[in-house]
Amino acid sequence: MPDAMVAARASDKAHGTQQVDVAVVGAGFAGLYLLHRLSKAGLTAVALDEAGDVGGTWYWNRYPGARCDIQTIDYSYTFDPELDQAWTWSEKYATQPEILRYLGFVADRYDLRRDIRFKTKVTEARWDDAAERWQLTTNNGAPVSCRHYIMATGCLSAPKPPEIDGVKDFEGKVYFTGRWPHDGVNLAGKRVAVIGTGSSAIQSIPLIAEQAAHLTVFQRTPNFALPAGNGPAPEDRKTFFESDRAAYREQARQSMTGVPYPQQTVVSWQLSDTERRERFERAWAAGDLVHILTQLWADQGVDFDGNALIGELIREKIGAAVKDPETAAALMPHDHPFGAKRPCLDTNYYATYNRPNVTLVNLRQEPIKAITAGGITTGKRHVDVDVIVFATGFDAMTGAIRAVHPITGRGGKSLTDVWAQGPQTYLGLTVEGFPNFFMITGPGSPSVLSNMAVSIEQHVDWVVDRLAALRDAGFTTIEPTETAQTGWGRHMADCSMVTLHRLANTWYTGANVPGKVQGLMPYTGGVGPYRSICDEVTSRGMLGFKLTGPEIAAQCNDGEVVRLQPDVRLVLNLLASLNLPPIESMGAQGACAFVNEFNKGRPAGRPIGEIADGTLPGTDGPLPYRVYKPAAPGPHPVVVYFHGGGWVLGDEQSDEPFCRDMVRRTGMMFVSVGYRHAPEHRFPTAAEDGYAATRWIAEHATELGGKPGPVLVAGWSAGGNIAAVTCQLARDRGGPAIAGQLLVCPVTDCSFDRPSYNDNATGYFLTRSLMYWFWDLYCSPADRTDPRVSPLRGKVAGLPPAFVVTCEFDPLRDEGIAYAEAMAAEGVPVEQLKAGGHFHSSFAMVDVVITGAPGRVQMAQALRRFAGLPPEVSLGDEHSHGHASPGHRIAAAAS
Ligand code: NAP
Repeated sequence: MPDAMVAARASDKAHGTQQVDVAVVGAGFAGLYLLHRLSKAGLTAVALDEAGDVGGTWYWNRYPGARCDIQTIDYSYTFDPELDQAWTWSEKYATQPEILRYLGFVADRYDLRRDIRFKTKVTEARWDDAAERWQLTTNNGAPVSCRHYIMATGCLSAPKPPEIDGVKDFEGKVYFTGRWPHDGVNLAGKRVAVIGTGSSAIQSIPLIAEQAAHLTVFQRTPNFALPAGNGPAPEDRKTFFESDRAAYREQARQSMTGVPYPQQTVVSWQLSDTERRERFERAWAAGDLVHILTQLWADQGVDFDGNALIGELIREKIGAAVKDPETAAALMPHDHPFGAKRPCLDTNYYATYNRPNVTLVNLRQEPIKAITAGGITTGKRHVDVDVIVFATGFDAMTGAIRAVHPITGRGGKSLTDVWAQGPQTYLGLTVEGFPNFFMITGPGSPSVLSNMAVSIEQHVDWVVDRLAALRDAGFTTIEPTETAQTGWGRHMADCSMVTLHRLANTWYTGANVPGKVQGLMPYTGGVGPYRSICDEVTSRGMLGFKLTGPEIAAQCNDGEVVRLQPDVRLVLNLLASLNLPPIESMGAQGACAFVNEFNKGRPAGRPIGEIADGTLPGTDGPLPYRVYKPAAPGPHPVVVYFHGGGWVLGDEQSDEPFCRDMVRRTGMMFVSVGYRHAPEHRFPTAAEDGYAATRWIAEHATELGGKPGPVLVAGWSAGGNIAAVTCQLARDRGGPAIAGQLLVCPVTDCSFDRPSYNDNATGYFLTRSLMYWFWDLYCSPADRTDPRVSPLRGKVAGLPPAFVVTCEFDPLRDEGIAYAEAMAAEGVPVEQLKAGGHFHSSFAMVDVVITGAPGRVQMAQALRRFAGLPPEVSLGDEHSHGHASPGHRIAAAAS
């Protein structure tokens, strides 16, 4: 719209306050779709934007080479199939002018400009409790009074100030990529400096180098960049898209990233070097960030070693592309896992450094001291330049909201103060104390870790649907509760422990802005899971929100929407979607067959030194066992291990991933015992087999390759029960000596009336009814109080030191805690791990429930302590690809 018309429209409103249902800040992707949806929902709205036209980030970022780096086929609105048909992108990655034209086309098609006040900045927003409205002041025209206030400000709209001394003394021209002049900049014949090597710099550097007399790039941290291979949209994506557009879009909405790629299931160590290289080369050639970030192998984003392989392969590519070895080495990132910092998409970026008119200055070796009248001085040189381009990024996410204007909520609380220690939100959409205030792609939502187009549509749909529903029900205010917001913060933290984002200093964490409080701001749990959580909030009666209205009773269905660990939630949802019959309905044989089949589909566990099978003499004939040994030369301390399965299911191999993982983490040898099962062998067979096996293993430790002396015992579930009983029997029957016991979610008592049995009776895989079935098959009611099955009823004094693990969502939780407390009360050294958000199988599901890994680290440390060893184990050659680098140790500690 011409500026004169903008001014005329603003002056129309100058005589009073503009009254609307909803005010929106921003007329980019989010603001435009909001206006469309709000108008369809019958809500009056105005959007305010400082820019002179629509476009948001695409209005401002006009630097040379600016393009999207999600394929444009995916970086589009999907809400209207006719719009989808009406617009065809000319390239795989559209340029900034084309994206801007698209947004203009959308604004015209739905007649959105009539509700936008351009060149208008909100200077203050204040919640008026009496009127239950937000009162906004602006720098251009009438103030605005609105019921609801929505920030569609984007995540990267507040450029960082230069932060380098002397900028104002510089006599040449200064430009910011995020505020590039609209009529372009002629750099021909100029000596140009670019500061920064993030996405904006990497896109612009090759084009600036083509124009400039000389280009000097000042790099603080090298980034991973992938060649875009731009051109027409790739045939495979186009065919997939054209074959069923609706299905394509739906798959994107349910995916982790907002782009329809499948989840990979093969982990890196299951692939040979050749297979990994083939996958990598395919991804490199595909020129697609989402592809390379998600399609190589399943552990690339969650495991340091699985990730490190990619860094190596990309560094090889950089070495091949850049002729000068010193420049090549400086361009190779080593300080962060691939993908933990936003990788870039480039066209000729690395090759640009082969040009004679391009110099790279490595600021890690020679930091900038000052900017002077004529150029830039580092610790080692002075570079004369005519132009400085700051590609130094943004005060991301919170900056885009907090820095734009003061926002004052209920009781005069300022958002800046409330977020002083970092952003706190519920769902990334709302903030406690700020009624009727919404953010689109705010901190706490998947936003920048997703295809923004898909996330924006989901957020807008959810918010507008809620506003319409509130209005229809007679509610005038909506605000999240403290409980819900705190719970979301915890869930965010849980999610961030799964990925590697926490291991990099980036704008995702606020590390790029001096003095900014650090913490991972985007939600790392994925687009599809996030969508289902938002839907769950609605289906559970606006869980975590307080709603009020003048003629309706206030409603507050308080609570936390996600209490499970994120990966536990995914596993349980997946299991629920399989609609399996209850295990107890399958009969003992059927259940065994089912468990065997089920186990075939799980990750097998990483390589260890050796796995060998044997038999040992039990009380009543031979018992099978399986030995898991570390790769490092022995002899190793021996852990006698008892598998889970309710005394009915499983065998000496069925907890193999757990045993392998613990062998790697402890550097100890695990001997898993094939004790006999019910219903053929009822109580006390399993207990007596366990004790007899422990005795034999202790006596034959040396023959097995273990260290002579006291053994350790460990077990999960019913195996934890056998381990606990074994310790009591060993104490009472004259040995063997046991140095410590690891009891993971153990059965310790026959009483079913503890709260955990009721709280977790259904829905967490191990159900109350399944436990009844196990008990019935194993032990008649008359025997159940025998300490050989209910060790909590036995004498617990004088037992070996114990590490007891319990899980929050497990029927067995309270009896495990009771056993730990009983032992501690009798003077046994006991440590407990009460694992929040976990279920009975969390720790056994190695490489599936990633959040179980820190718990196993603690278990391993306890076992090493019991054995008198230092807490750290050198993973050495047991480690599939590993080197004990400092980075590796950080990750090992963290993962
Ligand atoms: P950025 O990724 O934050 O990069 C800023 C660069 O400037 C970094 O290399 C940073 O180094 C450097 N820097 C910052 N302050 C500095 C200082 N005081 N001295 C020296 N160097 C300094 O910013 P961006 O490139 O504008 O990109 C931001 C985000 O916008 C991207 O990650 C992406 O999400 C989005 N974006 C997307 C596209 C697209 O293709 N669609 C294009 C551009 C941007 P350090 O790493 O050491 O801090």
